[in-house]
Amino acid sequence: MNDASQVYDAAVIGGGPAGLTAAVALAATGVKTALLARRAPYADNRTTALLGASTELLERLEVWPRCRDKAAALRIMRLVDDTDRLIRAPEVRFSSDEIGLEQFGYNIDNRSLVVALEERAAELSNLTRFDDEAAAIDPEDAIVAIRTGKGEQLFARLVVGADGRQSPSREAAGIKTSRRDLHQSALTFNISHSRPHNGISTEFHTAQGPCVFVPLPGNRCSVVWVSETREAERLISLGDEELSEATERQSHSILGRVQVEAGRNLFPLTIERPEQFASHRVALVGESAHVVPPIGAQGLNMGLRDAADIADITGNAISRGEDPGSPAVLARYQSARRADVASRLIAIDVANRSLLSDFLPMQSLRAAGMHLLGSFGPLRRLAMREGLAPTWKRVS
Ligand SMILES: Cc1cc2nc3c(=O)[nH]c(=O)nc-3n(C[C@H](O)[C@H](O)[C@H](O)COP(=O)(O)OP(=O)(O)OC[C@H]3O[C@@H](n4cnc5c(N)ncnc54)[C@H](O)[C@@H]3O)c2cc1C
Repeated sequence: MNDASQVYDAAVIGGGPAGLTAAVALAATGVKTALLARRAPYADNRTTALLGASTELLERLEVWPRCRDKAAALRIMRLVDDTDRLIRAPEVRFSSDEIGLEQFGYNIDNRSLVVALEERAAELSNLTRFDDEAAAIDPEDAIVAIRTGKGEQLFARLVVGADGRQSPSREAAGIKTSRRDLHQSALTFNISHSRPHNGISTEFHTAQGPCVFVPLPGNRCSVVWVSETREAERLISLGDEELSEATERQSHSILGRVQVEAGRNLFPLTIERPEQFASHRVALVGESAHVVPPIGAQGLNMGLRDAADIADITGNAISRGEDPGSPAVLARYQSARRADVASRLIAIDVANRSLLSDFLPMQSLRAAGMHLLGSFGPLRRLAMREGLAPTWKRVS
């Protein structure tokens, strides 16, 4: 039974994949945790390419065995220049066996991942779920007071703000955020196809953005098709047959005949970064802490590292008798996340800009960079390892 009169060590606000992972990780570390999240089916058809460290985390949290069978292994990643520009980059192929791995990770639909996280969350005795939203979040000196939509009051020493792009907890902590509209949108849908994908994810770089085909179990792939917003709106309005044909053309028929499945979503793309990751007893995880376009499958992978770090730091603080919402503990989280998030935001932004740029020297630079990646093994291997997780030691 929920007990709102207690003081929790941590209250996680938001039940998306980042919030659920943070709640499970905190509770698994022994932290007395509240989760404020409406129970509702996951609303869109996005999938996530979970890279190396993310599946290891989900394995440790006893989540991965519950959804592994819904995921497809990603063994090879191909980047193909699909612009018709004067200077085109050579194809680059990253193969997991080059860095001694059977696969880079797994692609899974977010719905199945969230179901597995919810199942695990329900098992943990020190995790109390409130099937509600936070209507008011008031960080005070010694505690945060939270009022739920149904009028319950609860208290926590630390709030983990996993409440997405509009993040009320970020606002409550007074953390400002910068936002840049990219005037591009990502259309997502799933397809079945006649030829096997063989665990190969292929990213076609068009002059409007990447179009990515990521393996799902069987002869199926998820598609993330980034283009200028007006073009994305045209694509989403096509009939099934027309979109299947357009997709097959865009894929250069590498997957044979393509048939789109039911369900499409459109995501306007932005880059968002808060000035801080934590303040006033609130630590941000997931999209409240960073929004990036879907290039290199980094968004939720970063969100899962946020979740792992806040759980480690909070667990350690409590075992040392520290207040988990104190400025010293929040500063540890800030320093653990800063370099990872900042470097990825910059890399993704540069990759996207270089793709869209019509400036000839920029195209040459991009082609030279891709050529180096394709031909120079050590650099390619470094890029692969860095793409999976930061290679420097993380603070916890
Ligand atoms: C097209 C596309 C493809 C992507 N592909 C990948 C990929 O391959 N790999 C990858 O790593 N990432 C990928 N991403 C990024 C990834 O999808 C996001 O990082 C991730 O879904 C964000 O999860 P979240 O839990 O932070 O946010 P959300 O899923 O938005 O969850 C926030 C939750 O907070 C709740 N909430 C809000 N306000 C309140 C409140 N007051 N009280 C309680 N709850 C509240 C909301 O209802 C919601 O459930 C992709 C993104 C896009 C757009």
